[in-house]
Amino acid sequence: MTETLIPFAEAIERYEPVIGLETHVELGTRTKMFCGCVTTFGAEPNSQTCPVCLGLPGSLPVVNRTAIEYTIRIGLALNCTIAEWCRFARKNYFYPDMPKNFQISQYDEPLCTDGYLDVEVNGKTVRVGIERVHLEEDTGKSLHVGGATGRIHGAEYSLVDYNRAGIPLVEIVTRPVTGTGEDAPVAARLYVTELRDLLRSLGVSDVRMEEGSLRCDVNTSLAPPGAPWGTRTETKNVNSLRSVERAVEFEIERQAAVLDAGGRVIQETRHLHEDTGTTTSGRSKEEAQDYRYFPEPDLVPVAPPRDWVEQIRASLPEAPAKVRARLRAEWNVSALEMDAIVNAGALDLVVETVAAGASPADARKWWLGELSRRAHDTGTELTALPITPAQVARIAELVAAGTLNDKLARQVIDAVLAGEGDPDEVVEARGLAVVSDDSALTQAVEEAIAANPDVAAKIRDGKIAAAGVLVGAVMKATRGQADAARVRELILERLT
Ligand SMILES: [Zn+2]
Repeated sequence: MTETLIPFAEAIERYEPVIGLETHVELGTRTKMFCGCVTTFGAEPNSQTCPVCLGLPGSLPVVNRTAIEYTIRIGLALNCTIAEWCRFARKNYFYPDMPKNFQISQYDEPLCTDGYLDVEVNGKTVRVGIERVHLEEDTGKSLHVGGATGRIHGAEYSLVDYNRAGIPLVEIVTRPVTGTGEDAPVAARLYVTELRDLLRSLGVSDVRMEEGSLRCDVNTSLAPPGAPWGTRTETKNVNSLRSVERAVEFEIERQAAVLDAGGRVIQETRHLHEDTGTTTSGRSKEEAQDYRYFPEPDLVPVAPPRDWVEQIRASLPEAPAKVRARLRAEWNVSALEMDAIVNAGALDLVVETVAAGASPADARKWWLGELSRRAHDTGTELTALPITPAQVARIAELVAAGTLNDKLARQVIDAVLAGEGDPDEVVEARGLAVVSDDSALTQAVEEAIAANPDVAAKIRDGKIAAAGVLVGAVMKATRGQADAARVRELILERLT
């Protein structure tokens, strides 16, 4: 079924969006939340399980101390209050990927509450309120085989992998975000981006959206300005930054059409289709599911000592927003230029390239220019390119020294990416250095003059600008390796 949509700009003229985000983060602990099973991603299905995470009768959970510590780190970095005493709760529901038929989670007593994260949106600071940060266990993974969609409908059979069951999962819930207007979709994306960078800096998760270690539920509602908030929909398991933005945008366009037609938005979960950026209806939430939460009887309450919390607070790294402000001053770049670096996923790479000796301007130029283009062309992340910051710094150094020009530098990059070795090895093996040695250049210059007598005549008549043609001919003859400035001098020496 295709939905009626109102163009975004038009929708936003008549309605105010309210957004909210629930983010699930798999913690990067070595072992699971309540047992000693390891958590390595991509292992043989069901090879990382035990009686506890399979929910076998008689097995008892034990809390992973590192998971508590990581959650407190997240809470403190998000300016939250850390509970002096809290409990885990059983959330009862049946699902094949959850072997116990309940999930150990937190309900009315979360570990962290009442924080915020500041996000820069088009030059304005949006303070996103954090309602709660709580700890739970992840479920297993179902694989539906034989159908066209990968969903259970139409599948011939289903497989379940319990390796993920019991991995510590932190849920970060925002308060409703109001007043962002047309920036709502971007604000949602930038919030998740900032949160991801913060979590990465804390060292608590690898925050890989594509592997599902960071995933988002995006809530959107719409109402005329001044009216009470509208009914919200919840787009589930959005797993890329771009999709977070598109999910909000699509829901604004769709809900505006429903409201324009005098209809009412149904409270429901929706699925995002990554290929089209559209959402379709999932499960109705009009009748709220009763999970029959009760305090988990197999676990003692968690009461983190205050001095431990203060120790953790003292060990927090500089927040990414502060790092960016400091680097902007050090590198002398504008907010816009810093955004470009961050959006390209190049911040750490530029930092490391500068540390390896390149100037900030050179580091930016190569990572945001040539190397971003290569990453884009090959459909990989910048960080996944087989070239190191030290190698990029060395190439920049060779250009600065006049050994390479930009064109030759690009050939060196090609070779390094192709696995031919370090820049110096490539320059040596391919003979790529700029030729500025007069004896090597003189012959090419004289050949160019002889081959272009009319151009040479113009230069003799004082039309110096014509020298460019001869420089071009020499560059071509030397496959771009000649020192162009020296070639020009040699031509003018001969003809003027
Ligand atoms: Zn286990």
